Amino acid sequence: MTIFASETDADGIATITWDLPDRSMNVLTEEGIAELEAAFDAALADPAVRGIVLTSGKADFAGGMDLGVLAKMKTRAGDDPARGLFEGTMAMHRLLRRIERAGMDPRTHKGGKPVAWASPGISAGIGTEIGLACHRRFLADDPRAGVGLPEILVGLFPGAGGTTRLTRMIGVMAAAPVLLEGRMLDAQAARSAGLIDEIVPARDLIQNAKDWVLAAQPADLVKPWDAKGYKMPGGAPYHPAGFMTFVGAAAMVHGRTQGVYPAARAMLSAIYEGALVPFDTALTIEARWFTSVLMNPSSEAMIRSLFLNKQALEKGALRPAAPDQKVAKLGVIGAGMMGAGIAYAAARAGIEVVLVDRDQEAADRGRAHAEGLLDEAVKRKKTTPEQREAVLARIAATPDYAALAGCDLAIEAVFEDPGVKAEATARAQEHLPEDAIFATNTSTLPIGELARAGRDPANFIGIHFFSPVHKMALVEIIRGAATSDRAVAKALDFVRQIRKTPIVVNDARFFYANRCIIPYINEGVRMLAEGVEPALIENAARQLGFPLGPLQLVDETSIDLGVKIAKATRAAMGDAYPESPADGVLFKLAELGRLGRKAGAGFYAYDEKGKREGLWPELRDLWPPRPDQPALTEVQHRLAMIQTLEAVRALEQGVLTDIREGDVGAILGWGFMPWSGGPFSWLDMLGAARAVEICDGLAAAEGPRFEPPALLREMAAGGETFYGRFQPAEAA
Ligand code: NAD
Repeated sequence: MTIFASETDADGIATITWDLPDRSMNVLTEEGIAELEAAFDAALADPAVRGIVLTSGKADFAGGMDLGVLAKMKTRAGDDPARGLFEGTMAMHRLLRRIERAGMDPRTHKGGKPVAWASPGISAGIGTEIGLACHRRFLADDPRAGVGLPEILVGLFPGAGGTTRLTRMIGVMAAAPVLLEGRMLDAQAARSAGLIDEIVPARDLIQNAKDWVLAAQPADLVKPWDAKGYKMPGGAPYHPAGFMTFVGAAAMVHGRTQGVYPAARAMLSAIYEGALVPFDTALTIEARWFTSVLMNPSSEAMIRSLFLNKQALEKGALRPAAPDQKVAKLGVIGAGMMGAGIAYAAARAGIEVVLVDRDQEAADRGRAHAEGLLDEAVKRKKTTPEQREAVLARIAATPDYAALAGCDLAIEAVFEDPGVKAEATARAQEHLPEDAIFATNTSTLPIGELARAGRDPANFIGIHFFSPVHKMALVEIIRGAATSDRAVAKALDFVRQIRKTPIVVNDARFFYANRCIIPYINEGVRMLAEGVEPALIENAARQLGFPLGPLQLVDETSIDLGVKIAKATRAAMGDAYPESPADGVLFKLAELGRLGRKAGAGFYAYDEKGKREGLWPELRDLWPPRPDQPALTEVQHRLAMIQTLEAVRALEQGVLTDIREGDVGAILGWGFMPWSGGPFSWLDMLGAARAVEICDGLAAAEGPRFEPPALLREMAAGGETFYGRFQPAEAA
């Protein structure tokens, strides 16, 4: 065996070690399942074996299931993929159940062999589900160690018994954050929640597990649900306390997901229905819901965008061939909100940073931002005080541009003003090495024009971060017409160092993300001007799965920024500027000093502490709602299509060169309906013909901004899908 090796010691304890060859992290493959089964069956059948320890030969226990297994289950069953998935899932249930029962007599529960699970580090997904079937769980005392079931984050739920076992072990309320939010728990939290039993020093991990195996009594091996008189912690649905829990859980899930995530609904159903029946029937119910989720196009799209394609982009699927461009020393010019965030992200990743601003005070303010974030991390035990010192020691804050000498990458994040940027670029380049790459964090100015202030347009590039930098995972890299492959490779290697997700787009007004976000905001604000109820606008967006409605989004990014962008765009486009009633609304709010969250007043009202209270009631006086309100779906079509069409145009015009980037970027960049897998996945789900029909209707009612692009019409006529036509060969 090459994946699970078994070795029995003099005490009769078989240690089964999981070590998938050629991978830094264990994932459960098809061969792995067969070997795990064979190793357990052999140990259970061998009279010389008294008990079993299951562990890993790597630094972590496991990252999860190899998603290829699910794909194989589906294809193997030919024209009945659901059956293939269901049967494959049930086979997994039988295996884990066999481990859990460990050869004991079904009536007396005696004669079983104790099975201890010993994880040296991280255990996620199926790794944790296997652990839950074992009799006792040990975790190494290591700050990196963690346990969780994050399946929900890619549109799945734990379908190898994890959902049923965990809720029966700790109750619905305690299981909710682990199952429904996919939260990874550190060792302490995992033990208090009851996911693991013991935290032990890493070097004694196996010995502790073995000691427990030798001392275990028959009663220690019987799971509560197999013992007589089992009651679910917190109560099953028809128990008075359980009733409250289940009603609360259903409301909470719906409140968080707006009912658009099939996996969250299916998981809740599996928990509820499973709680009403015996354990083995509950596993069958779990398998049926799991199958239904896997057959849902939304899950498929989410797995593709949020797992497979996101990972491919992070690993450099689109990196031009160039030698390693890892950054050793980074210069950041402008220590404001963005510059400070970028400096912090880089220093955390181990990169030396020089942070330059106009005077020492401003530079220090930027460094203080990192201090604040680190203090918070130390308080929450995410960082040790020593790590905090080490990160801060890497950030040198100064007004002296000469300190940029020796930086191999510099990122400019000064005011969004071409003149200020040109001056800062020229000054920085007096001190940077000849071959350093120079990047701008501009959100709106064309890279080609800013590059004129640089020494060499080949070494000039856009690296566009999103705010707040420490939270936002996406980085948009903008390639100017003259930008070299080496500069692109440098930007990609840097993004990889700081563990964010990159997309690479070509230089055009607003690049990709803002190009789509701005029309979304404008459409929402425009509806307000037209007399649509503000709550209808916001709720329509939230019920599509957007984290923020368009009005709240402007409040967050600030209304004066909206005004500035509208004015600058009008100046740049001249007569071609599409007049919109949205501008009048923004100008009016700006005039009233309602600049958004930062001013404690905007489309929403805020209390003295800055907490958002609700839509500002006077909006309805300024823009009275008309008596005939549009249908919810009409509002939703307008909000979703206005940005989706922009994504299609970005592809048509070559700003986007890969639909994977369009989909991943939309979800990570501005929370585009994550259940859809992104705008291109959504169009594929809808069908190009239906999308054209919706847009033709909107164009007739609302104007040419909804006119479907030629590409979409062509695809509708040919019955094509985006992933059929544009899927890159290596990812097919
Ligand atoms: P900010 O006003 O918070 O910070 C700008 C900083 O640059 C200030 O500290 C200022 O003192 C400094 N500065 C100005 N001129 C300088 C000079 N010549 N030399 C050195 N420092 C100088 O602005 P911000 O929000 O951090 O934005 C910075 C850039 O990032 C802008 O181009 C903006 O468009 C872009 N951006 C902003 C966001 C956002 O959400 N705020 C998102 C993406 C990109």
